[in-house]
Amino acid sequence: GNSHDFKRKPYRAQQDNPAISHSLREKARVLLETRKKLPIFQHADEIRQKLKDNNVMLLIGETGSGKSTQVPQFLVDEPWCQMKKVKATTLTEGDNIQKKSIPVGGCVAITQPRRVAAISLARRVAEEMGTPLGKASPASKVGYSVRFDTSVSPSTRIKFLTDGMLLQEMLHDPWLTKYSAVVVDEVHERGVNVDLVLGFLKNILDSEGEGRGGLPLKVIVMSATADMESLLEFFGQADSVQRVSGELATTNGPASDGNGRSNAVSACHIKGRQFPVQTIYSPAPVHDFVDAALETIFNIHIKEPMPGDILVFLTGQETVENLEYLVNEYAVGMDPSLPKVLALPLFAALPQAAQQRVFAPAPPRTRKIILATNIAETSVTVSGVRFVVDCGKAKMKQFRSRLGLDSLLVKPISKSAAIQRKGRAGREAPGKCWRLYTERDYLALDEANTPEILRSDLSQSLLTMKARGVDDIMNFPFLTRPPRDSLEKALLQLFNIQALQETGKISDIGLQIAKLPLTPPLGRVLLAAAEHGQNCLLDVIDIISSLSVENIFLNTNSEEKKEEAEKARRDLYRREGDHLTMLMTVQGYAAENTDRKAWAERHMVSHRAMQSVMDVRKQLTAQCKQAKLLTDADTSTEKRPPPDALSAVSILKSFLTGFSTNTARLVPDGSYRTVVGNQTVAIHPSSVLFGKRVEAIMYNEFVFTNRSYARGVSAVQMDWVGEVLGG
Ligand code: ADP
Repeated sequence: GNSHDFKRKPYRAQQDNPAISHSLREKARVLLETRKKLPIFQHADEIRQKLKDNNVMLLIGETGSGKSTQVPQFLVDEPWCQMKKVKATTLTEGDNIQKKSIPVGGCVAITQPRRVAAISLARRVAEEMGTPLGKASPASKVGYSVRFDTSVSPSTRIKFLTDGMLLQEMLHDPWLTKYSAVVVDEVHERGVNVDLVLGFLKNILDSEGEGRGGLPLKVIVMSATADMESLLEFFGQADSVQRVSGELATTNGPASDGNGRSNAVSACHIKGRQFPVQTIYSPAPVHDFVDAALETIFNIHIKEPMPGDILVFLTGQETVENLEYLVNEYAVGMDPSLPKVLALPLFAALPQAAQQRVFAPAPPRTRKIILATNIAETSVTVSGVRFVVDCGKAKMKQFRSRLGLDSLLVKPISKSAAIQRKGRAGREAPGKCWRLYTERDYLALDEANTPEILRSDLSQSLLTMKARGVDDIMNFPFLTRPPRDSLEKALLQLFNIQALQETGKISDIGLQIAKLPLTPPLGRVLLAAAEHGQNCLLDVIDIISSLSVENIFLNTNSEEKKEEAEKARRDLYRREGDHLTMLMTVQGYAAENTDRKAWAERHMVSHRAMQSVMDVRKQLTAQCKQAKLLTDADTSTEKRPPPDALSAVSILKSFLTGFSTNTARLVPDGSYRTVVGNQTVAIHPSSVLFGKRVEAIMYNEFVFTNRSYARGVSAVQMDWVGEVLGG
């Protein structure tokens, strides 16, 4: 069994405290009035009818029209959406085919590219339905599942999950038998996972319910932009599409047999409300967009009327935290007769409680300033925003085939993304958008985002496919076919970490890695650590948990700050490098029982980041127990001694097993050259090894700003690298 299994028991409202359920229902009744005003609400009957007749629907609607929150609620009470017992063909151990009576359907899955969106949408929909959220009560009808955090109940009917988690569920349940419908949201973002989900869903649709006892799976594909052609073609029904409503003319599709067995595709276009938004371009190119944003924010605050919150688009956690600091600092000296400002960060790794604060209305006489990554572009809608400040850039994954690895690059956004960002200012009233770039720069932007599958490392995707039994990768139904070259690179990487056999079939190691919520290299590290013993595994869990956030240390930009930080973190530093330093930090923080916040401040460590790290650590430990890599006894004692030199070697060797290709050796001129590819790479200034010379380094991440940097760096020996690379 696995933790995502939820047993289908009848809804038993009696298990809830009657007073609590009453107040939940009251709140839902009030929210219904707001929901009725959403543009999608008038399309409810039409959507239900289309899905009764067809198994696939494309739904195009502007951000904020109510797609993500309302569509699952429209469907969940439909007769076809109820659980049924059917006789289905199942494969047992040894590939024997067996007919068994199994329950199929009953739940709606909605996938999201981002965990923040999955959780906040689930919370919102639970409120709207007047039900507790997830594991809070066995009667809860709405749950969510994201990496490192699953919250469902036996009564869950609507489940928000990241597309990655749905892929994970498919490994355990290839026919998605729990679900009557899968809603694939935010398809316009074209992340790798969403492309894979679409491919697998197409396979399920084409198999005519084999494995589901003939019960169809309904698929709803939702997007904020109207590029439907490629999706129509993908589902192979381009000529028989029934176009309905909005601007699209209705043509006659194939007749349905009335049982909803037709795989014909229907489409629905929802026109959102959008008020005019005035665009203000920067007259000249901007050198430092954080400074420019700061200036713009306070200009808006002083000149523009209240109410009206400000939404600022930045590139990542680092720029968000820098600007948050600057805004708070600047606000201290502000004219006291002005309304107050409240800076609220919003990025993926933010702990949940902090994320929720973004949605709360501003206190009286206060302007909210939301400092966000592109999370707020289409996945998350915050009401009250009238002013948008757009830096014009975003962090994007970029596969660097020379180095054979992914790196995050800050790159200009597409025109379509710039339009989305601007649109966030005009949802409730006319708004204004300040673009921190020139009109000329805007006109030079790409029209739309390139699908991620064309620019990222495919090893995780390939491993998922292999684990799901897709051996012929070349014939998988890709919405956009990735280049052969990057498929081959990914295969090579999987061979390198022993996830594939000589034949190309998945190995036992590969199967184990596929089931872990980690990238293949990190999954490999975890398995290697388990072989070194339980203490090594626990240490590695701590390190991997710190790697899950962008940075556990507070930024130190000035020289002065750097010195201060060096002093504050003296007892955490390990000369082996960043991995061991992270371990010391997690252990120090975890061992602090009285005031962790003070501990973090004293060591110039981000308390916020550490809270996320502790969440991940807990989940990862639980996953390792589930995978039988750990037992309860192993984790019963919280306090472990800091690793001695010998254990440090085991830890680093474990990491090398997954990252043998992320290594560089020192050359006579004092620079580092990658072992594979012979490229120059410098140690990132944030590393404890910055400025140090060691025989060789291993790193987790490769960043490219004005030069190539290795981040998350530790010192290793060339013969260890040889050991791993040599076999
Ligand atoms: P779409 O999917 O079309 O972008 P949504 O269903 O996400 O639209 O949003 C519909 C409305 O629900 C929005 O007006 C938004 O303000 C509100 N909403 C969504 N999530 C939350 C939340 N977590 N808290 C408060 N309001 C929310």
